Order: sequence, then structure tokens, then C-alpha cells
Amino acid sequence: MMAQDAAGSQQLERLVGLVVAEIQSLWGELMIAPSGEAMEEMVLAWSRKVGQRVLAAGLQAQVEAVQAQAPRQCECSGRRHIHLRRPRTVLTMLGPVRVVRQYHRCQECGVGTFPADEWLGWQHGFSRGLEEAVAWQAAAMLPPGAQALLWLVLSCRSVVTFHPHLNG
Ligand SMILES: [Zn+2]
Repeated sequence: MMAQDAAGSQQLERLVGLVVAEIQSLWGELMIAPSGEAMEEMVLAWSRKVGQRVLAAGLQAQVEAVQAQAPRQCECSGRRHIHLRRPRTVLTMLGPVRVVRQYHRCQECGVGTFPADEWLGWQHGFSRGLEEAVAWQAAAMLPPGAQALLWLVLSCRSVVTFHPHLNG
């Protein structure tokens, strides 16, 4: 666990250095922005780029922690070992984000699992946040009757998502 923490704080230090460098480079560009509107767009694009890197680093660090804590004992009572590492990229609200996950495979029965996948919660090629945003966007393009119905469905789902205690 100590090694994990040391690795985590090293990752954080690298990330802080990177963000500071990004701010310095952005500032130079802002000082020659042709208009206030242009500056706003530059900062918006920058915030997404930096957010994407912070998200990727944060996800990777947490994926490592989840994998380190994953039970190594299989249901057949055999032992799971790290069989391979596989990258996965999904589209998030901040743009594409890539993490590398371990695949744990039982040496006895051969059954395998990606222990971090449940924590990540990525069903398809999109994060849950982006799926919801796209659904809201799509609802706005429907005729009014269908729109009202879809908005109602999405609202109920959001309420349940944000207040999990309502679910049970
Ligand atoms: Zn097994």
C-alpha cells in the first residue's frame, strides 16, 4: 500500500507540473487573443484538454488501486494472475480518454475478468455522462409530444442516478 501511495503522489506531481506548463503556454496565447470572444474559446478548449489529461490520470491511478485490491482467489479456489494488460478508450464529456486495465485469469479453470471494469462503469464506447448529455440533446430535436415524454423519462432516470436511495 505504501508503494501504491508513493506511486500515486509521483503521478500527482507529474500532473501538477504538466498543468502548470499548460497554463503558462495558454497565458502566452491569451495575451495575443484578437478578441474577448476568441479568448473565451481558447480557454474553453484549453480547459477540456487539461480536464481530459486530469481525468485520464485520475482514472488510471484509481484503476491501479482497484486492481491491487481485487480478490485473487477464484470461485474454483484456483489463483488468478495478471494474464495481460489491455488499453480501453472511451469518449467522455471531456473528449477521448484511455486507460490500461489488467486482465486477471485463473490458472486452474481459465476464467478471467477485468477487475477495474465495474468501477469504470463504461458500458459501450461512451462514458455515462456523455450518454446522458447526448440523450438530452437528442430529446431537444424530437417533435414536442415525443420530446415531453422523453424528457420525463430522462428526468426520472437522472433523479434515480443522482439520488440512489430512491432506487430501492
Ligand atoms: Zn478458477
